[in-house]
Amino acid sequence: DIATEPRPIKKLDKTLINRIAAGEIIHRPASALKELIENSLDAGSTSIKVTVRDGGLKLLQIQDNGCGIRKSDLPILAERFTTSKLSTFSDLARIATYGFRGEALASISHVARLSVVTKTKNDACAWKAYYVDGALSSNKPGRSPEPEPCAGNDGTTIIVENLFYNTPTRLSALRNNSDEYAKILDVMTKYAVHNPKISFLCKKAGSPSPELTTPPNLDIPQAIGLLYGHSIAKELLHNTVSSSSSPGDDMDVDSEEGSDTLSGSWSADIYFTNPNYQAKKFNFLLFINHRLVESPRMKRALEAAYHSILPKSASPFVYLSLNIDPKCVDVNVHPTKREVHFLDEEGITEKICNAVQASLSTQAASRSYEYQT
Ligand code: ADP
Ligand code: MG
Repeated sequence: DIATEPRPIKKLDKTLINRIAAGEIIHRPASALKELIENSLDAGSTSIKVTVRDGGLKLLQIQDNGCGIRKSDLPILAERFTTSKLSTFSDLARIATYGFRGEALASISHVARLSVVTKTKNDACAWKAYYVDGALSSNKPGRSPEPEPCAGNDGTTIIVENLFYNTPTRLSALRNNSDEYAKILDVMTKYAVHNPKISFLCKKAGSPSPELTTPPNLDIPQAIGLLYGHSIAKELLHNTVSSSSSPGDDMDVDSEEGSDTLSGSWSADIYFTNPNYQAKKFNFLLFINHRLVESPRMKRALEAAYHSILPKSASPFVYLSLNIDPKCVDVNVHPTKREVHFLDEEGITEKICNAVQASLSTQAASRSYEYQT
């Protein structure tokens, strides 16, 4: 209804504000899992095990063998803007785009039941803590909210239960548990390719066999083979490009003035299929500064690079890991957006696509030579 008289402006309730903010970061079980995997990786884990019930809506549990969390840090663990990963303003510029500045666990605690079991190597036992709306809470009426001692291995287990229990509209939008589980597996599969030295496991609660499992100490082609199949792995090409690498002989590069100082330093590691592999859908894995992101522009450019090489209806598989000087990442993009922008995006994209095309045409040439002889 439209107001005829101005109504008083009131401040929203703090819990409501936090819940809205949390909903912007945690869209679905897979987005919570992505944050939790990154935390486990940041903690130096070599093993990450995920257990899921009802597509992650009932239960999403992630167990790692990383450095653990000190007991004295547990009271502020799930508060907003508490982090062990940045302290200075220059750190902020670096983290702001790809991290969540201490917001992930806080957000989860506002839209789910969060509990944490953690043990550092110096602790005699593990500690278990429960969180609601950013603060320690007791799990039973009359009990103290203080962390409880318990048995446990070195590392951290984060347990997320009843996701979106307090935001029914969000919950009702996510009715299909198997879709949510597929998204969880997709995120894990991609992180497992990007971190082939680390062993990953993902299973449904109560199920004897995991849907995803990798041994430790693979290399990237092995991980791709294991996770995406031999038909991709056997047709893989590899190339690296960086801001300092010289352009290919036959490439016409308009060297824009100062474009190198503008873009800062960057390097790209690319694994991509040769024309023997022809999929229906383009499978593109993009990591920028070790964070799984999306870049429609990069995707389109790579598709175009294959255009003259693959039949019209066929698509490749491409895994691209791009490391860019953090100060060149566009900080105007909100951190919750998976889509990223960086300085000299066009120049970097072009150099990468040229390298891909060069490898593909070299391969095509050697092939026709093979057939001729
Ligand atoms: P951020 O990762 O941006 O710091 P989070 O809310 O994701 O924010 O985590 C807050 C802090 O909790 C981290 O900085 C880290 O110190 C600690 N933490 C979270 N998960 C883990 C984990 N799996 N192992 C060790 N420490 C963790
Ligand atoms: Mg985090």
